[in-house]
Amino acid sequence: MRAGPQPLPVLYIDCDGCGQITPHNRVQKIMSIREGVFTGSPPETVCEGCGHAQPRVVDDEVPADATIVCTGRRHRRFGYKRRRKPCGESLTVPAAAALVICPWCLTAQTGPGRR
Ligand SMILES: [Zn+2]
Ligand SMILES: [Zn+2]
Repeated sequence: MRAGPQPLPVLYIDCDGCGQITPHNRVQKIMSIREGVFTGSPPETVCEGCGHAQPRVVDDEVPADATIVCTGRRHRRFGYKRRRKPCGESLTVPAAAALVICPWCLTAQTGPGRR
């Protein structure tokens, strides 16, 4: 049983590309088939800030320890664009995150820890 829409789980990882703590919510998988042999690399997470892809490692997720209020606006169905309401949900994010994604309205915004 589901009670309404669930928030998207957002993964915060210390990025090797830009050196900041950013959401890594996309996964990239590199696969190839060569001479009938299938090879696949482990999935890599992709930085929302700089697009850098890196493999997951143990304990790479940065714990969310700060609460901020979303400044984004919720997506409305087509036709409701002019009456978008501010999202205003509170999100828990790492205090050092440079970029955050609201799990409710899916907007990327500046995090509390912009360096
Ligand atoms: Zn990055
Ligand atoms: Zn939001």
